[in-house]
Amino acid sequence: MSGLYARESRSVSRMAHLRFFPQAVVGGNGAYLTGDDGRQLLDFAASWGAASLGHSHPAVRDAVHRALSDQAGASYLSSANEPCVLLAEKLLTLVPEQARGRVWFGHSGSDANETVARVVVAATGRPRILAFNGAYHGGTVGSMAVSGHPAQQGGRAAGLTLVPYPNSYAVGSPEAAKDAALADLEKLFATEVPPEEVAAFFIEPIQSDGGMLVPPDRYFKAVEMLCRKHGILLVSDEVKVGLGRSGRFNAFEYSGIEPDIVVFGKGLGGGLPISAVVGPEAIMNHAAAFSLQTVHGNPVCAAAALAVLQTIERDHLVANAERTGTVLRKALDRLAARHPLIGDVRGQGLALGVELVTDRDTRQPATRQAALTVYRAFQLGLVLYYVGVNSNVLEFTPPLTLTETQARDGAAILDQALTDVAAGRVDDDILADFAGW
Ligand SMILES: *Cc1c(COP(=O)(O)O)cnc(C)c1O
Repeated sequence: MSGLYARESRSVSRMAHLRFFPQAVVGGNGAYLTGDDGRQLLDFAASWGAASLGHSHPAVRDAVHRALSDQAGASYLSSANEPCVLLAEKLLTLVPEQARGRVWFGHSGSDANETVARVVVAATGRPRILAFNGAYHGGTVGSMAVSGHPAQQGGRAAGLTLVPYPNSYAVGSPEAAKDAALADLEKLFATEVPPEEVAAFFIEPIQSDGGMLVPPDRYFKAVEMLCRKHGILLVSDEVKVGLGRSGRFNAFEYSGIEPDIVVFGKGLGGGLPISAVVGPEAIMNHAAAFSLQTVHGNPVCAAAALAVLQTIERDHLVANAERTGTVLRKALDRLAARHPLIGDVRGQGLALGVELVTDRDTRQPATRQAALTVYRAFQLGLVLYYVGVNSNVLEFTPPLTLTETQARDGAAILDQALTDVAAGRVDDDILADFAGW
């Protein structure tokens, strides 16, 4: 364990820690991080997708430098600033017609989803919200309240109802998963949850922290029709898989749906904290002074976000995510053919997941092996984490700038890590301090 890591444990609280191995970094460039031991680590996590353009991207650095060289205040609460206006104007062009109203800016996916959860109830007068089992919409009280991830240590909202996310792998086929999930929803509307009391349905177009679950074809189209029928607002949480990561600009595009409200975060700031909610004017202008934190809409983070969006467009990073994602996906499929631990490979673009199982027939979660694999990969030079309600899904959310060579290099390291874990060469004891989630 490095000196920096040990020092951190004596000064920094562990309440925000979600650690998988003793990593301490002192720098980074592109898809690589520099460890405090001098090692170069290929980063397939990108800080949970937040480092959307990789590390030290010149476009973000230059935008931040300019914004701080003639600083237009530090907030949009009590004054307009140009980076926020430009960013809002840009975001309005990137969402479906009915969401093209107004933009709210926050710091994180959590404050954004919390704001949506509050405003949809306040603006519609409907008390209920729907979300999915396994959904992660944030770590603040109000965003946790509309989430369904079992690792969270917080309460749920009184008006929240959680419904199953269709899991094609667990159920055995996409068609069966879709039919079961829809039947569940319709039964709920006919019994415990009167649809006219539901303000909004929060969806993840790919359920990432729940296990990188890709919805079956036509599932969300059917959900959208139910929402339209009952006047329920459809909220797409694009925080992790949006902004090009899926190989489409918005991940919901794969489902052919048009959500009413779109939530952006993580990669939006390219490493700086900023989130955005885009939705209809009637909702987004519900009331002034309704949801605010002092440095919301600060021009520095807004300028960084604008640079991120411009770079995604200029460098064709949506197409790169699709192309490089296909290369990575194929490399992972080849690993699945040789490693019995791999039960399923899934995802879209550069939002990929590999589910590890101890037995392909029973699909028993290989939770311990997932923890050992990410630890071993770290030792071998690759950073990735695991997700899933059973903590057995390796998650791939590398920078959108990833090259095909880097995709293959990372897969080769993972190949070795899986080999070492399967051969029992990685000692269980190393996991003692790294519970993950
Ligand atoms: C990470 C995440 C959030 C919360 O974002 P924070 O920046 O951690 O507050 C919300 N929704 C999804 C889908 C996420 O992946």
